[in-house]
Amino acid sequence: MKTQLFYSFLEKLRSTKILKVYEHLKETARYSREQLDYYQFNKLIKLLEHCKTNVPFYVNFFRKNNLSIHDFKSLKDLKYLPVIDKKTIREMYVNGQIISRNKKEFNPIHNQTGGSTGIPLQLLVGSQARDFQGAGILRYYDWMDGYCLGQQKLAVLWGDMRVRSINQKISDSLKLYLTNRRYYSCFSLDKHLIEKYHKSIFKFNPEFLRGYAFSIYLLAQYQCDNAVSRKLKFKAVSTTTEKITQQQRNLIEKEFGCKTFDQYGCGEILMIAGECAAHKGMHVTEEHVIVETDKNNEFIITDLDNYAMPFMRYKNGDLGKIVDDFCECGMVHKRIVDLIGRVDDTIILEDGKIINSSFFAVLFEYMTTVKAFQVNYYSFKKMDVNIIPDNAFAAKDKKYIEDKILMTFGSQQSFTLNFVDEIKQNPNGKTKFINVFKHEQE
Ligand SMILES: [Zn+2]
Repeated sequence: MKTQLFYSFLEKLRSTKILKVYEHLKETARYSREQLDYYQFNKLIKLLEHCKTNVPFYVNFFRKNNLSIHDFKSLKDLKYLPVIDKKTIREMYVNGQIISRNKKEFNPIHNQTGGSTGIPLQLLVGSQARDFQGAGILRYYDWMDGYCLGQQKLAVLWGDMRVRSINQKISDSLKLYLTNRRYYSCFSLDKHLIEKYHKSIFKFNPEFLRGYAFSIYLLAQYQCDNAVSRKLKFKAVSTTTEKITQQQRNLIEKEFGCKTFDQYGCGEILMIAGECAAHKGMHVTEEHVIVETDKNNEFIITDLDNYAMPFMRYKNGDLGKIVDDFCECGMVHKRIVDLIGRVDDTIILEDGKIINSSFFAVLFEYMTTVKAFQVNYYSFKKMDVNIIPDNAFAAKDKKYIEDKILMTFGSQQSFTLNFVDEIKQNPNGKTKFINVFKHEQE
């Protein structure tokens, strides 16, 4: 009750309608494929009409290409629009080309993403986009064995670099308290801090746990390795932000005695997909986004709700596979079944050969004797492959890794396989598993 009241108050304050959209998404969850396509198409046309009139880049694009809204007859015609990458959208933010002239009508808030290139991307998020993102998350929570925001306790392992004012801090603390959540910062996680968090979470006694996948894995690993007597158990674990390997998922589920529900979004579009109770991939929030893939399985994402700064056919740098076959949960929403990794981490060898970072993700995905890995690539003379082996790691495993790397990279590639105790985090608390130092001299 207190949560409902608080949310209503917060929604008034922020001019959002998350709870209303959440009710709407519960209905559209039952839509057929035809209904969803029709729904998406209508939203797309509405957004295009807005862009054609109010967003300088699209005003010019429609004019230059002599395009009219009537040329868009089905969702397939989305292909008439250009694919836009991160670099382009960053430039268009600066020169205003991608900002709606009437942006104020959409109550935008300013946001920025960290970005793996180290240069943050600035963006505006209109209220409708915030409603669908928030509501999409609430619907995904429904799939997690009955988790209802505010009704049960939730521990959150999260990184947050935002500089906050005193007022924001107070508002955030109040929000956490009223929604029964407790926040644990996952910056600079070390064994000491994990031990401290483990004790604190045990005392808090939450039914659910949510956070960065690798941080949650570290917590599970701590519990496993240290034979802790007071074990953490949850009804469900929600992982996000980092790719979770099967081996990590197995350990989390074994230690915490529950299922893992992965969720996917990016800094520009926070809610893209979430895993249902059938655990056969993550259902795309199709009411909010259209996710296409190109021939390399790179995602091309259209946010149907951000009228302040439209992200249409945006390549966010992630890749994966999309399927639309039957799911036991009854939803027909397409699913991301194989979120592989980030394209940004592509390694280009001296001879021009391109090694996608997914090579390492796939190599280590099912190696049960490797707990975690991180690759630092410098040049053909230097590459560090750091792994945390478990006790069963044998000479044959080492040989297997070395053979696979040589087979893929070629014999001219020098590399070192290092056994390490921990994997380094980025300053923002996220963990990057492939680091390419392109300009660094060895
Ligand atoms: Zn499902």
